[in-house]
Amino acid sequence: MSEDIELELQCKYCDYEELLNVPESDYNAWAGNGALLQEVFDYLSAGQRELMKSGTCDTCWNKFFPNIDDEDEDVEDMG
Ligand SMILES: [Zn+2]
Repeated sequence: MSEDIELELQCKYCDYEELLNVPESDYNAWAGNGALLQEVFDYLSAGQRELMKSGTCDTCWNKFFPNIDDEDEDVEDMG
């Protein structure tokens, strides 16, 4: 069993902040053991994962890379 830890994610490019509770074992698998972010945190949205990985929120990411097709199947297309 693993306890949840609270991650405070902050966008480097704007004031966006998000608090995420994830199992500590998942976080350690990614941060400590080099597991793939999208596999460990497949229950998070693509935007949340990007915020963890690169410190870029969904809004800013789409601003910087408006034409990139996300590989994730669960991407939410806002039209
Ligand atoms: Zn941002």
